[in-house]
Amino acid sequence: MKIEIPEFTNWQAEAEFWDKTDTTALLEEDGEWVGSGRVKVAENLCRHCGTLMERHYIDVTIARGRIFLREVQFYICPRCHARDLPTEQQEFVVWLEKMPLPEMVAA
Ligand SMILES: [Zn+2]
Repeated sequence: MKIEIPEFTNWQAEAEFWDKTDTTALLEEDGEWVGSGRVKVAENLCRHCGTLMERHYIDVTIARGRIFLREVQFYICPRCHARDLPTEQQEFVVWLEKMPLPEMVAA
């Protein structure tokens, strides 16, 4: 039996798919995973221990105090207390830190 693996738009859809799908056809006799390798690890799983991380929000100042961000989403692992940012926010922060200082504008 071959399993058609759809393109997932978010991790909830992917988790739901794998919950409902019988994956025994994807297992070889020694039990090793032989999936397509296209499945990405959900970003809210701890990279250190694999535990589902808790979502939190915080107001932060970044770019050496130039920019104030409200309710930035981040994750804390309840098991090993590792912290992580969602992928798109990591990219945003890297991008922002590279921006030149804006001209000071009189309020
Ligand atoms: Zn962890």
